[in-house]
Amino acid sequence: MAELDRSGERAPAPPADWTYAPAPESRDVVRLRDRYGLYVGGEWLEPAETYQTISPASEEPLAVVGQATAADVDHAVGAARAAFADGWSSLPGSERAKYLFRIARILQERAREFAVLESLNGGKPIKESRDVDLPLAAAHFFYYAGWADKLEYAFPNRRPRPVGVAGQIIPWNFPLLMLAWKIAPALACGNTVVLKPAETTPLTALLFCDVLRQAELPPGVVNIVTGDGRTGAALVEHDGVDKIAFTGSTEVGKAIQRRLAGSGKKLTLELGGKAANIVFDDCALDQAVEGIVNGIYFNQGHVCCAGSRLLVQESIYEPLVDKLKRRLETLRVGDPLDKNTDVGAINSATQLEKIRELVESGQEEGAEIYQPPCRLPEKGYWFAPTVFTNVAQSYRIAQEEIFGPVLSVLTFRTPDEAVEKANNTPYGLSAGVWTEKGSRILWMAQRLRAGVVWANTFNRFDPTSPFGGYKESGFGREGGLHGLEPYLRFDE
Ligand code: NDP
Repeated sequence: MAELDRSGERAPAPPADWTYAPAPESRDVVRLRDRYGLYVGGEWLEPAETYQTISPASEEPLAVVGQATAADVDHAVGAARAAFADGWSSLPGSERAKYLFRIARILQERAREFAVLESLNGGKPIKESRDVDLPLAAAHFFYYAGWADKLEYAFPNRRPRPVGVAGQIIPWNFPLLMLAWKIAPALACGNTVVLKPAETTPLTALLFCDVLRQAELPPGVVNIVTGDGRTGAALVEHDGVDKIAFTGSTEVGKAIQRRLAGSGKKLTLELGGKAANIVFDDCALDQAVEGIVNGIYFNQGHVCCAGSRLLVQESIYEPLVDKLKRRLETLRVGDPLDKNTDVGAINSATQLEKIRELVESGQEEGAEIYQPPCRLPEKGYWFAPTVFTNVAQSYRIAQEEIFGPVLSVLTFRTPDEAVEKANNTPYGLSAGVWTEKGSRILWMAQRLRAGVVWANTFNRFDPTSPFGGYKESGFGREGGLHGLEPYLRFDE
């Protein structure tokens, strides 16, 4: 006891405001090259045009990367076609699975390196890239490795065969995870791939080429062409591509659909969303508040299925909004590489501008804005977590995808009204329901026009579960058994 007393005297006094000490993740684990080429046929091609990719948290230049032209895309499609014909498509599924298992294991082994690079180039908090993006990316490769030799069982009596060369275009919000969602099922089914990462976040896709080398994947099975929308358009327009898989904005998705109409090419589109997170008065309130925060502030709200419209039952509106505002005050906004950070940097200046414009429209239309006090870094692209109350359904902030840390709160009285309001959107990607009644969850899930409905949770992903939209959120499913189908053709 005396010993304890003495050590107590020496212990430093706790800080008065109980703030966290910085806990930065080291950048040393990542070795960036100054310059990256295009990964085609297992080799690095020197691009004719280049651009600089930066860190959105500091605007610091990170590397020079290639802006692939139509000729480069043609070269990549040629390499993918040759690899398809040269043995990849006829390799037994059990052999293809070995490559996918290897890729999954290497991603696990190099998870820290990938997580740091993802946060550096994309601005997302390290605790998200470390605990969500990387484990899920590896899990997708593991999961589809398991299917590679079971396609006949997955689709009995339909003689599943690979489609050919898949052109894949991915966005900047989950760069490596979207790559995994696209590449893993394509390879499991025996296709080859040309993938274009988003202009602002090419670096983890380029590091992934090193994983392919380590896994000894045959040259040309996966080709990575970096560049902006022009590179994506060249891939869509290339006659040698048999299937396009696109994740991004509804606007570009529609343009791709128009371009491919009548071409016979397979197409899947995973587009935007304006999900309703619906909270009933019998829910566990504190748990719901955590789910709301996770639903909209996870990844700075750069999430196609983000719970950006909160529908609260009128009887609990005031306590819930009070709790939500208090919780917002505890969110830590700042350095993506700090392990304490909850909300990182906005991905680009363009996206920040879009968020600001929509937030201004909300204020002009009459909604009430709340932002917790937080000091944003001077350099880089930042936006404070934001809640709008007093929102009418017709306001732009209740209709349009903001793709930022901005929540619009609306109310309802009855379950019918909740369904009516939740479905009052051109989108249909996801929804959340918070209630203690299982029967009400099922009742709601049957009526909500959304590809995914979460109950008493939000933003939960699993490779075994299909994901995709209704209406302007696109068509086709990724993940699960359903995610194989777009990469196969059948004798029917
Ligand atoms: P885009 O739809 O432009 O980007 C998605 C991908 O498509 C990127 O790789 C992009 O390249 C590429 N691309 C752009 N133009 C074309 C084209 N004509 N043909 C083929 N590919 C093309 O989305 P943005 O990055 O411009 O974001 C705008 C808005 O879209 C966001 O504010 C958000 O609302 C929504 N969005 C939705 C996503 C989702 O997951 N559903 C993901 C990203 C955005 P590049 O990066 O060079 O532009």
